[in-house]
Amino acid sequence: MQTQTYRQLDRDHHLHPFTDFKALAEEGSRIVTHAEGIYIHDSEGHRILDAMAGLWCVNLGYGREELVEAATAQLRELPYYNNFFKSTHPPAVKLAEALCRLAPPHMNRVFFTGSGSEANDTVLRMVRRYWALEGKSDKQWVIARDNAYHGSTVAGLSLGGMAPMHAQGGPTVPKIAHVRQPYWFGEGRDTSPDAFGRECAAALEAKILELGEENVAAFIAEPVQGAGGAIIPPQSYWPAVKEVLARYDILLVVDEVICGFGRLGEWFGSVHYGLEPDLMPIAKGLSSGYLPIGGVLVGDRIAETLIERGGEFFHGFTYSGHPACAAVALKNLELMQAEGIVERVRDDVGPYLAERWATLAGHPLVGEARSLGLIGALELVDPATGERFAKSLGAGTLCRDICFDHGLVMRSVGDTMIISPPLVITRAEIDELVRLAREALDETARRLAACEQA
Ligand code: PMP
Repeated sequence: MQTQTYRQLDRDHHLHPFTDFKALAEEGSRIVTHAEGIYIHDSEGHRILDAMAGLWCVNLGYGREELVEAATAQLRELPYYNNFFKSTHPPAVKLAEALCRLAPPHMNRVFFTGSGSEANDTVLRMVRRYWALEGKSDKQWVIARDNAYHGSTVAGLSLGGMAPMHAQGGPTVPKIAHVRQPYWFGEGRDTSPDAFGRECAAALEAKILELGEENVAAFIAEPVQGAGGAIIPPQSYWPAVKEVLARYDILLVVDEVICGFGRLGEWFGSVHYGLEPDLMPIAKGLSSGYLPIGGVLVGDRIAETLIERGGEFFHGFTYSGHPACAAVALKNLELMQAEGIVERVRDDVGPYLAERWATLAGHPLVGEARSLGLIGALELVDPATGERFAKSLGAGTLCRDICFDHGLVMRSVGDTMIISPPLVITRAEIDELVRLAREALDETARRLAACEQA
């Protein structure tokens, strides 16, 4: 089929996620046809370096035959069976064991879901159920953060702190509160990063006191906010949050959907920051995105209560622990271990990206360049003032579109440009990524200057 035919059919029948349907209909979609390594190809013959690993998920890169074979073999053997009705199957059991071996020592159980959003729905059910079983059924409030992303289901969007989603979501799930995010560049530049990190932790404590500890079930956060703009908290933030949480009996949920499986150079972001979560929602990199699967790693404290005192937990999905998805995830974890992917991010390509990415801080359009492991961001600013551009200029969107035209997928969140490349990226490919980003920044600067003169 030709590009134009695909575009027409897409326009006529397909509603895309997180998309202005009308604007896309006018512009037409890019038809991505195939991919290998860290490159995607479109139907018009462009080869594009995918510095977003799909949607933060294709950690082993495209075209891994071992994953294809794992899926094929499992689909032949047992394409589907559920884990309801006292049944299970080998891939689900093996994956559960492998995950718990990689997880922090106090996490020995996993509940499977089909996605990260379903994982966070499960989290909400579990924390409230846990406290009810502990005889503290008033403990229902969950504290999350502004500009957090925890998914697109109603519970996911309610836990998330994305203002545009809340504006469209209708009434959200009750008893979820939000506190300020540790986004120093966006909200804290009048003070030092460390002082700002402590202020954000103090805001959490103030919220706990306002709601009453006896009413608060859990605090949920991403180690590094992904969709919010690759927001790496100040060094002081997590230690200060840990201190706050230690003063109160409140569960910690660390959303590892992006940071899990090596993104920050450890198996989990929690390990990087020395956190001991009670629950960890996971997805994306669990299967390198080859098939959809998510889950919640459950700490012993919660698992014991749910198992010993809970009776039936009325919750689960048709595709909880789907055999083919589980087989692919298991193979993905095996490959990551065999190839030392996590160590490579921590000791080699992560530090190399940090060094190369930092050179972009010298670009006139860049107010800050930050990275940790293989996640990074650039803050676009007006070279004349060092401050943000007027929102109406759409500098981030312009830069993202120019990146695409230069053969680079770099995403924009407002005027923050973000990357999260496959963990298998090489040093030479990092050089190429940074070169393409610099070219796109140059072109963006030229076009913005022309806009301002006009
Ligand atoms: N949590 C985080 C931190 C995420 O980044 C995402 C997806 N971007 C989700 C949850 C939701 O995952 P899914 O899209 O698989 O439902």
